[in-house]
Amino acid sequence: SNSLVWFRRDLRAFDHAALHRALTASNRVHCVFVYDSGILDPLPRDDRRVRFIHASIASLDAELRRLGGHLIVRQGRPLEVVPALAAELGVEAVLVCADYEPEAVERDAQMAERLAADGRKFLSLKDQVVFEKDEVLTLAKGPFSVFTPYKNAWLKRLASMPETLASYPVDQYAHNFAPPPLDAPALPSLEEIGFAPGEPPLPAGMEGAEAMFEDFVRRIADYGRARDFPAQDGTSRLSVHLRFGTTSIRHLVRTARQMMENGAGGTGASVWLSELIWREFYAMILARHPHVVHQSFKPAFDAIEWESGMDADELFAAWCEGRTGYPLVDAAMAQLNRTGFMHNRLRMVTASFLTKDLGIDWRRGERYFALKLNDYELASNNGGWQWAASTGCDAQPWFRIFNPVSQSQRFDAHGEFIREWVPALASLSAKEIHAPWLVAQDVLADKGVVLGRDYPFPLVEHGAARKRTLERFAVVKKAA
Ligand code: FAD
Repeated sequence: SNSLVWFRRDLRAFDHAALHRALTASNRVHCVFVYDSGILDPLPRDDRRVRFIHASIASLDAELRRLGGHLIVRQGRPLEVVPALAAELGVEAVLVCADYEPEAVERDAQMAERLAADGRKFLSLKDQVVFEKDEVLTLAKGPFSVFTPYKNAWLKRLASMPETLASYPVDQYAHNFAPPPLDAPALPSLEEIGFAPGEPPLPAGMEGAEAMFEDFVRRIADYGRARDFPAQDGTSRLSVHLRFGTTSIRHLVRTARQMMENGAGGTGASVWLSELIWREFYAMILARHPHVVHQSFKPAFDAIEWESGMDADELFAAWCEGRTGYPLVDAAMAQLNRTGFMHNRLRMVTASFLTKDLGIDWRRGERYFALKLNDYELASNNGGWQWAASTGCDAQPWFRIFNPVSQSQRFDAHGEFIREWVPALASLSAKEIHAPWLVAQDVLADKGVVLGRDYPFPLVEHGAARKRTLERFAVVKKAA
């Protein structure tokens, strides 16, 4: 029998739920990836994520060819392209790895209907997470809304069902791939799909993911300490690979657990595993509470009146462009704008600054991150923003407001990160660099820095902003 595996954000050919199922159930397995015009058309022509996907597609095709198959690549609307291809190939079923974002869920429901109308099956399999939204529940069989008990229940469930982490092997069934036709067209170039040529922002594809993971495993024992310091190479940087499925979550969790068991991972491996569980926690929250896409997780927080009008627009633009006058915030935004990555500590600092120092609606910041982040993921981004804005589940309490200067002194004590991303301040000492407006102007001038010319004065005074935020959030206190 014939089947078609439709790749989306699972761009690998090992430990792959849909590929494994197709290869074990049928003896002519075709593979397709569709450049979705609905997603790609609005993106800038030099989008880094498209470069990453494009490079990962080449790596996937090469691996499938090594196994005896190949990747068919199409462009257009999947709802038209996939049923047409399924008919052309005469397959009985289309298999995918489940995608839980609301728009993907809606599209897949329509896909199932269209295929069913032609007498074909649509099979969606768990692959992207260890546990789906209904698999880790409270004693009352409801969803969790606090992370730590969720994590404990998640770990307990895994301990009782270790088979959940079993791999979905591919290579031993490779004889069931449909071989590439002699006239198979070459993969489209970036230009052919309408984008500017360029390198991916980080090593792409399965081999890129594995090389990065191997490098991280050597550093994992120190993760618990190093992960908070943006100038250090303390985290895995695997988020983009998790986003596009060039690595397997089961493979990562298995490795972390082995390192916990044999002691090689120190405490770092278990702290890192917690972060992977945060990813599933937010995916569960989004699937269970889809209103979070547009509203606060806690409805009382929808009463907050954020700043609006031209002044707010100007503040927002200054934040986006890294011109707030707070060096750590500006350095973080420069990193985001220039590379598409931002360190987790700095995502918290910049999100807190936008919502609690500038009083701007978290949804505006969330959308900006969505445009820029290479690892943009609706569930984690929304969860992170609602955490920082205090509107989310298990969020930072609203009266706890990060001080952008003390965060800078604590997490970039020597100013190394700031110096890298805000070269205008490179000549300042570790003591001066966190709050240059507090340094005597002549001292700054001796170092070649004039505030207002080389680097902005702070947009707001943190103490006053903090007071306004406490007033703004008072509506929540009244509602509670
Ligand atoms: P590591 O520290 O190596 O962590 C390993 C993996 O665990 C990450 O790759 C990621 O998949 C997961 N993870 C880590 N921290 C979190 C977290 N707090 N929530 C959910 N998953 C986590 N992460 C995204 O993947 N996409 C986003 O769009 C995103 N937006 C964010 C927005 C804000 C405001 C905040 C505060 C956090 C956001 N995060 C997001 C979470 C986190 O910042 C990134 O996952 C992390 O910085 C990626 O770097 P890493 O791969 O080196 O992480």
